[in-house]
Amino acid sequence: MTEVFDAAANLAAVDARIQSARAGSARPERKVTLVAVSKTHGADKVEALLRAGQTVFGENRVQEAQAKFPALKTAWPQLELHLIGPLQTNKVKEAVALFDVIQSVDRPKLARALAEEMRKQNRILPCFVQVNTGEEAQKAGIAPQDTDAFVAECRTLGLNVVGLMCIPPAEDEPSPHFALLAKIAARNGLTQLSMGMSGDFETAIRLGATHVRVGTALFGARDYSG
Ligand SMILES: *Cc1c(COP(=O)(O)O)cnc(C)c1O
Repeated sequence: MTEVFDAAANLAAVDARIQSARAGSARPERKVTLVAVSKTHGADKVEALLRAGQTVFGENRVQEAQAKFPALKTAWPQLELHLIGPLQTNKVKEAVALFDVIQSVDRPKLARALAEEMRKQNRILPCFVQVNTGEEAQKAGIAPQDTDAFVAECRTLGLNVVGLMCIPPAEDEPSPHFALLAKIAARNGLTQLSMGMSGDFETAIRLGATHVRVGTALFGARDYSG
């Protein structure tokens, strides 16, 4: 039996939850951008969401995005694509050409490669610095205590740093991580916060998220078996 995918209904439901969380936050006037995370899902589902009015999408792998998005971007010029996963320096050229926002700037070597490539392509993309708020050894991101210096380094390199991004440890209560990210952003003069996924985006919005990255609640469960 094939699962029915109703893009408009899913989008309306997520949007209603975003608006209600926003209304209950300290800054209800703040804009919240929904980044629809389309990893593992086909271009047909992305297109259904585009038809329903969604324009911002997120992918975590350059290669997968390259297979799916060039044709979609030609057909839908308003489409904005965010890279939300780890970026290898040997993929920086492709990433800068394809993506519109890089949310996963997580180490000095990558920051240098991105700055150089953006100059080369004359595409100065907005960037988020990824912070490893849980200080997990296996997770990408700058340690909280190193973030101020890294943001300064990125700015010196000429990167257009607009905000911070985090992925809290799956087993933790996310609120302290979101609050920590907001605090680090504020002291660095950064206004954008990418935090919150399907399971916790309302909490993230209450704590100041300007970008929520939502996959499952929009697209349904991911199938990694294929
Ligand atoms: C997959 C992914 C998401 C979306 O997760 P869901 O739980 O499906 O909403 C968000 N952020 C990042 C970095 C991801 O890789």
